[in-house]
Amino acid sequence: MTKKHLVTLIPGDGIGPEITRAVTDILQAAQAPIEWEEQSAGADVLEKEGTVLPQRVLDSIAQNAVALKGPITTPIGKGFRSVNVALRKELDLYACVRPAKTLPGVKSRYEKVDLVIVRENTEDLYAGIERKIDEDTAESIKRITRGASERIARYAFEYAVKNNRRKVTAVSKANICKFSDGLFLEATRAVAQAYPQVTYEEVLVDNLCMQLVINPENYDVFVLPNLYGDIVSDLAAGLTGGLGVAPGANIGVKAAVFEAVHGSSPALAGQHKANPTALLLSACLMLRHLGETACAQRVENALTAVLTEGKVLTFDLGGNASTEAFAQAVIAHL
Ligand code: NAD
Repeated sequence: MTKKHLVTLIPGDGIGPEITRAVTDILQAAQAPIEWEEQSAGADVLEKEGTVLPQRVLDSIAQNAVALKGPITTPIGKGFRSVNVALRKELDLYACVRPAKTLPGVKSRYEKVDLVIVRENTEDLYAGIERKIDEDTAESIKRITRGASERIARYAFEYAVKNNRRKVTAVSKANICKFSDGLFLEATRAVAQAYPQVTYEEVLVDNLCMQLVINPENYDVFVLPNLYGDIVSDLAAGLTGGLGVAPGANIGVKAAVFEAVHGSSPALAGQHKANPTALLLSACLMLRHLGETACAQRVENALTAVLTEGKVLTFDLGGNASTEAFAQAVIAHL
């Protein structure tokens, strides 16, 4: 019998449990050699365990080195800090990699989008260094270091070389944030010198948003500080059919956590309408990371068949199929 990979599974909350179930059902039907170790985190465990991110979750991922994660809600403007951000920081998952590629059968305004976002995942405004000065004033510190910037730039260039990509574009707002984004660019420029075979260019984030909407095919791999990476990821998802189809990975030296770009989508929770494609494609990235390339390809082929047929689609892609019906359609094509 093939040896199974032990993988931590965090179903998350909101639409998380529904889409996670759909994905594990598909992987089981595809005979993916995975054994899940389920771990809960987020608001649901706060009362019982006194924390939203229990040590057992971190230990499980550290031990297994790989996790598949559903989205977890973060209260907006109040309450506890993001479990997702804490997880990336605690495990030093410094590279957030989000491919945004046109999928066969998925309608969008563009036909040939093929971008990869490489987002720095550990610092910038996400470090959470903020304070209320008085009732009417608050401040957040944008912390950028040369070490983290060089590390993410190296990841982006290595990714470009390994995946035969032609160009890396560094994104910043260094005209305004002269020290912080200036340092980020200084670091990316230095790293770029070691990769003469890859074209290097720089663009300001506001201009990039406009350029991406007009000519997404002009770009290839992006390297960005944390906040711009977050925002441009959703923009890129919108170019390829929306958040329901946008996968991602958080990669570190010792562990990797695979999750969709989207959040917990509270308004859809419990309705069995959410599209599991983004998490399924994240699971395929995970299978490739584990060396299970053939299995990943089989699942992607089945997914492509369902999307191209266009008969069983979730609401975000213009259909009315439930999450479970969509998963069954993928299983039928395996
Ligand atoms: P969201 O990504 O949950 O939803 C944005 C929009 O995309 C909504 O209209 C939603 O219905 C749609 N959408 C998202 N996923 C979909 C899917 N699978 N199928 C169909 N449509 C889908 O963003 P939000 O509403 O801004 O955030 C909700 C919560 O999620 C917040 O608490 C936020 O902090 C959290 N969040 C978590 C993560 C994570 O776990 N990594 C990422 C982003 C946001």
